[in-house]
Amino acid sequence: MDIDCSAEELGLFEVIGKSAGESGTTCYVIGGFVRDKILNRATKDIDIVCIGDGIALAHSVAKKLPGRPNVSYFKNFGTAHFRYNGIDVEFVGARKESYRQHSRKPEVTPGTLEDDQKRRDFTINALAISLNEGSYGNLIDPFEGMKDLSLKKIRTPLEPDTTFSDDPLRMMRAIRFANQLNFEIEPEIFASIKHNRERIRIVSQERITDELNKIMMCSSPSTGLDLLYRSGLLKEFFPQMVALAGVEILEGKGHKDNFYHTLQVIDNTASKSDDLWLRWAALLHDIGKPATKRFEDGHGWTFHGHEVVGERMTPKIFRQLKLPQNEKMKYVAKLVALHLRPISLTKEDITDSAMRRLLFDAGDDLEDLMLLCESDITSKNRQKVKRYLENFELVKIRLKEVEEKDKIRNWQPPVSGDDIMRIFGIGPSRAVGVLKTTIREAILDGDIPNNYDAAYNLLMEKAQEMNMTPVDNGKNNTDTGGHNTDKS
Ligand code: ATP
Ligand code: MG
Repeated sequence: MDIDCSAEELGLFEVIGKSAGESGTTCYVIGGFVRDKILNRATKDIDIVCIGDGIALAHSVAKKLPGRPNVSYFKNFGTAHFRYNGIDVEFVGARKESYRQHSRKPEVTPGTLEDDQKRRDFTINALAISLNEGSYGNLIDPFEGMKDLSLKKIRTPLEPDTTFSDDPLRMMRAIRFANQLNFEIEPEIFASIKHNRERIRIVSQERITDELNKIMMCSSPSTGLDLLYRSGLLKEFFPQMVALAGVEILEGKGHKDNFYHTLQVIDNTASKSDDLWLRWAALLHDIGKPATKRFEDGHGWTFHGHEVVGERMTPKIFRQLKLPQNEKMKYVAKLVALHLRPISLTKEDITDSAMRRLLFDAGDDLEDLMLLCESDITSKNRQKVKRYLENFELVKIRLKEVEEKDKIRNWQPPVSGDDIMRIFGIGPSRAVGVLKTTIREAILDGDIPNNYDAAYNLLMEKAQEMNMTPVDNGKNNTDTGGHNTDKS
């Protein structure tokens, strides 16, 4: 074997070769594993293709392995899988495959190795190495995949229109591999992607988003995102992002291209964090700009409220892209909503109360917000960026000081909504919200001290203004969760 395998992998291949010999099956290790070994990248899963019954081979291999891994299989697809020493091993019978127009369901029939290699997406993913005795270790490379690996090129084994039309997800994969491996998509291949872009519509959103997230996890996602944009694919499934692109000029005043600005912010974020959701926050931070863009006479372009619009757009985009509807989505929406706040603190005389407010609003996500905000500082003018970053460091120091002094992160006001409902004998209502906010704001502003008595006094004052009368004096119930502990 010419590729550099671990002892474990070699042991596994030996068992596979032996089992195949017993049943007279021909089999190969194929695809991503071979590609990544040749490129010296970490490999994850091993794909075995065999001429014949892949499920039977998987069972006979598993029987011979220590611990007898459990085989799961799909009869309909002729695929089987087991996990051995942390390696996912997948077996499949060689297939001849074609997709009908407008259908996601392929027609699959058994085929030769070459048939199977033809239906692979790229020449670099079609490399196969024999595992059979006699030909063990031989590389079968009918489409010059080795050459493309050394030239760093993404090419399809067949006419690109055929490959892409059969399974349009391959267009996303071409861009993902170009980004991940730092390869170039051949111009005629890229032209075919442009030409076939609308066919991406027959692919399920889950598969598309899977590839999109792989692009987002690249070390420099801007490359892949720009290719998605320039091929026209992005517009097919994510038009809101495409709406960021372009520059309008009025009265000689232009604004920055928010699409390319966003790509820069994603790359900046990616250089500091590999959290997928923080990268999504970077992607969406300015998504509200097109909807809020105005030209103000004598002043220029403004995007007032784009952070609020962006926050509201986030759940809709998550739904559209079939991203999770959970706390990750809330986290992204929150960062989008707050993304202007830290930078606004670099201006003029900022009070402690503004610092407290940000600490309170950001809570546990403050570090991520600061990282996003710092990544958002982009300009062609290096001096300007340097100055902003220096001011930004000062904000970080101030925030730290205020937090140490006031412990405002994860802070709860001393009078809760439950307390208010009990004191006034009312249920959840707008009045409770108003009273709660009054207390919280007064403490954050430093108007009253952060303790129960001060909060209670303010509550009574404000309630009187609102013609509300207490039914409970509230004095003894600081922390009983609303149950009366009448000590009088
Ligand atoms: P990674 O595991 O990093 O995503 P990979 O190339 O191993 O990359 P897999 O999805 O694991 O990708 O697929 C394994 C192999 O199956 C690929 O190398 C390729 O040969 C083939 N393959 C996967 N998806 C497709 C597809 N949509 N069309 C054609 N061949 C595919
Ligand atoms: Mg793989």
